[in-house]
This record gives sequence, structure tokens and C-alpha cells, in this order.
Amino acid sequence: MTSEDVRKRRLKDLVEELDNFRGRHTELVSVYIPAGFNLFKVAEQINNEKSTAQNIKSKAVRKNVMSALERITQHLKLYKQTPVNGLVIFSGNVSQREGVSDVEIYALEPPEPLKQRLYWCDQKFVLDPLKEMIREREIFGLVVLDKSEADIGLLHGKKIKSLKHLDSLVPGKTDKGGWSQARYARIREGLLNDFLKKIGEIASQQFAEFKDLVGIIVGGPGPTKDTFASGGFLRYDFQKKIITVVDTSYTGEYGLQETVNRAEEALKEASIMKEKKLLARFFNELGRDSGLAIYGLKEVVETLKAGTVETLLLSEKLDWVKAQIRCPKCSEEKEAVMTREKLEQLKCPKCNELYEILAEKDLTDEIIKMAEEMNTNVEMVSADTTEGNQLKEMGGIGGILRYKSQ
Ligand SMILES: [Zn+2]
Repeated sequence: MTSEDVRKRRLKDLVEELDNFRGRHTELVSVYIPAGFNLFKVAEQINNEKSTAQNIKSKAVRKNVMSALERITQHLKLYKQTPVNGLVIFSGNVSQREGVSDVEIYALEPPEPLKQRLYWCDQKFVLDPLKEMIREREIFGLVVLDKSEADIGLLHGKKIKSLKHLDSLVPGKTDKGGWSQARYARIREGLLNDFLKKIGEIASQQFAEFKDLVGIIVGGPGPTKDTFASGGFLRYDFQKKIITVVDTSYTGEYGLQETVNRAEEALKEASIMKEKKLLARFFNELGRDSGLAIYGLKEVVETLKAGTVETLLLSEKLDWVKAQIRCPKCSEEKEAVMTREKLEQLKCPKCNELYEILAEKDLTDEIIKMAEEMNTNVEMVSADTTEGNQLKEMGGIGGILRYKSQ
């Protein structure tokens, strides 16, 4: 996985989560800050919005919008300047119960330079520009075939588009037309080969128009699809893009849909297998105390900086944050670096009061950036497997080293 893939996956997860929120009122704030834009100006605008928000009639809504804006103000203070690709912040009352307020903040640095500048307050978060960012590159080519017909299509995000349908001239097995068995078989084979060539040609032509095609999935009932996938019928660069070949019951439009479903399962399984293998290696190195495996935020970050980490393992549940906190009783303010879970239970040692979180910043992006600078592979690990869960329990971050550090 490249770190860009990891970023996209994180973005996808977040967009999915935020997409479900519906404000009970117009009280969800979205802020898009383009790459290179002055953060100070954004802070100024948020201040202006605070004065505007004073005019909101409903007391509860006013209070929620004000605290969303205040959290944004505090969050902005965590940055010295706008991150390279810009910054997106969402804040608002996400509580689904009337009269109950739960103002949350979500912020991320997008995987690609952000062009829009936006401030918007609505009953839902503005997510389209981010969705566009995820969708853009996720185009897969689809070829579903058997001896008698083929369909070429595209998978764009979650949408399947049919591009071309082809019928073959290969006659059925029974229709021999007076020829000898052997001759008939040769003719059929020749016609099938011609048909596969034609599919390859037309599919290559169709796919050539999509320069962001990330992969090709081949499907179909029976063995013809395997002959096609391994026979080099596609243009050389597309041939290399075949990511999986799957069995389906149908061809045609329904076959395209089936191919996508089956491929999703196959790819998921493959990624789980890969993940298990990697984690087995990690736990094995840890177990035999070879010094080639490390875990815990502090140690991993230090080793990352030294450039000796070959592969960085990040649990998808990793939730380390850097936060600015304040004790509501003695008003002491300080910075804390820990998991969000711990942070939410953190109490002032003097007053035994839960800290108030003024601002928090997810550290995962920063860690990924560090890995990029050091040419370290980044692998996102799900918490769906026993091993993945174990990594999560160990703090959600680990590393396999290139060589033993001193
Ligand atoms: Zn205190």
C-alpha cells in the first residue's frame, strides 16, 4: 500500500462516517481551506461568523453553532500554517437527541491539493468535494465473458457503466454442420481465439480513454475468462492491470454486477491474507526478541525519524491525538499526546476534574508524512483479525525495521 492509498482509505472512512450525520437544525459547520491559503484569514472569518451567529433565534441552536465555531478557532491554533494540501474541518452537534448537545470536531488534511474555499452551515456536512477526491481515481475496467458473449464496462466509485456488448460467432457444440469432429473443433477454437482477440482489442480501446484506470477485473462463467486473462489479449499495459479473475454465474449486465461483487470479496480476502502474513512476521520478530520489531507511538516515531523502519503498521483504529486541554476548576492549560480514549477520561491530578478538550489534532497524518519522507512502507491494518486486534491493543502502531537499531 502506498501512503497515498492509506490517506484515501482514511478519508473514505471519515466521509462515510460524516455522511450519516444529520443535524437536528442548521448547526453543522463545514470549513474548506485551500492549499496555500492564509490561515489567519480563516480564523478572522470564523470570528465574523461568531458575531453573525449571535443573531440565531433559537437559544439551543445558537449555543451549538457558537461552540462549533469556538472549537474550530481552537483547532486552527494547532497549525503554524496551512498544511500542504489544505485543510478541511467539520464541527457541530452530532447528538441525535433533541435538547442534548454533543459538539464534535473532525479535521483532516486531504490527500490531494484542495481547490475550494468554503464556509457552510447546514443540517449536513458538505462532503462532495472530498467524495470527488476519492472517486476520481477509482476507476476499474470490467470484462465479463464466456464463449458466446462479452460485456465491457467500468466501475466508477460504486457505479457500474456498461460500455460495449459483443456477441461471438463461435457455434454451439452440437451444431457441426457436416464437418468431422476434429475439423469442427479446430474451427471452433479458431473462432474463439478471434473472439477473444476482438474483446481484447475493443476493451483496450475503451479503457484507453480512462487514464486513471487503477485496475481491470475479469469475470465470467466457465474457463473462457481464464484463457482471456492469461492469454495476453489486452494491450500490454492493460494486461498488467488485471488485478483479479472471478467466477460468475452470468454474463451480460448482470454478470458485470456479479463480477464487481465477487471481486470485492476476493480482494478483501487477499488483503486480509497479506495483512495476516505481515503481522505474523511482526509478532514473530517481537517474540524472538530480534530487535527488528517495535511498537508504541514514542518508539516508532523516534525510529521512523532515524530512517530504519522498513514497514510501518498502523491500526485503522489508531486514534492518537495531540490535544490542548484545560482543567475547568483550576484553569490550568496544557498539551497532551495520547489516544483519544484515554484523553476523554483524563483528570486534573490536583482537582480530580475531567479535563476540557479545547482542541485536538489527529496524529496519524503526521506519522504517515514522516514515513513518506523516509521511504517507509505504510500498511493500514484492520481490527477484523485476531492479529490486527492485538496490534490495536498494543497502541495501534508498530514497525518492522530494516536492521537492528543501536
Ligand atoms: Zn485542576
